Amino acid sequence: MTDIKSMTLEEITAALQELGEPAFRGRQVFSWLHRGAVSFANMSNLSRALREKLAAAYTITVPSVACKQVSRQDGTVKYLWRLGDGNCIETVLMRYRHGNTVCISSQVGCRMGCAFCASTIGGKVRDLMPSELLDQVLFTQLDSGLPVSNIVLMGIGEPMDNLDNVLRFLELVNHPEGMNIGMRHISLSTCGLIPGIQRLGQLQLQLTLSVSLHAPDSETRSRIMPVNRAYDVEDLFAACHDYFASTGRRISFEYAMIDGVNDSDAQADLIAKRVRGMPAHLNLIPLNEVRESPFHPSRRLHAFQRRLESHGITVTVRRSLGGDIDASCGQLRRRAMAEAGAQTPPPDAVRSR
Ligand code: SAH
Repeated sequence: MTDIKSMTLEEITAALQELGEPAFRGRQVFSWLHRGAVSFANMSNLSRALREKLAAAYTITVPSVACKQVSRQDGTVKYLWRLGDGNCIETVLMRYRHGNTVCISSQVGCRMGCAFCASTIGGKVRDLMPSELLDQVLFTQLDSGLPVSNIVLMGIGEPMDNLDNVLRFLELVNHPEGMNIGMRHISLSTCGLIPGIQRLGQLQLQLTLSVSLHAPDSETRSRIMPVNRAYDVEDLFAACHDYFASTGRRISFEYAMIDGVNDSDAQADLIAKRVRGMPAHLNLIPLNEVRESPFHPSRRLHAFQRRLESHGITVTVRRSLGGDIDASCGQLRRRAMAEAGAQTPPPDAVRSR
């Protein structure tokens, strides 16, 4: 059985033509799928014979809500979706003045091993399919009734460790016959897999690349981000300069402020030195405390911000949303796994605190 929602319009059209159908059928099926059809039986403009043929050869992915939390403070909605194979993934819908932003996961778990991050503690279970990436946007919009205008690939997982599927997802979600979300409304965040940055740079997409920097010096970065031992921060900056040169797109750097680890003035000065020559945006994130990790939020956030700004760098401090729900970085999935035992998926429950 083939996962039909991971197929492009051209692929679906070709497959239907092989079944003797006219080209416009592809568009019909694609449009049903991208409006959230959960079975071929619902596709009322197709003949019954065709619906049966399709059902025999293809599957349609449909996630179910394993848990849903709505923040009383700011309306942030967090979903724990259960996938076809029982694995669970998190998606967060954030409500900003400029539109609703959905933060999606790219993998079940993560194998990057960042020392401050809860998403990586159980390792990577598997990659998500293009359909499962799309479903997070599609079913979050359908379930919440809130139109999604922006997407950030900043949930659990490393998008560039699943880049083929992520690129296909981008093509699908951007498609005029589908959800039609513009590339300029999409951000992709990476811990710094240089080959992925290079590949993305060649594609010249209009999306925003975010790089999780967290330290400008090799020693500190290797300590908190094992990926730095494979792709050193100096080479990472070179790849970022190349990316800017080929795309003209400003890169956004994520920087979780960790007390006594990455918050010195010397480190701010080194960041300034390394971004010189390209427009950069530093997004400082107050560290979210993770029970399993020894790190604490920095007490120098504003001093660090001022130091960066003194070098002419654009700095923002991330506002934390959904503080009353488990809205960040793998916390809901981990709690659900702990409650249910890692093997069995958590019970169906819609919770609202
Ligand atoms: N793997 C990708 C996508 C994850 S995005 C990446 O590394 O960029 C999630 C962002 O939140 C990353 O910048 C990540 O480093 C950051 N993050 C993870 N744990 C955090 C924590 N405890 N506090 C603050 N930020 C954290």
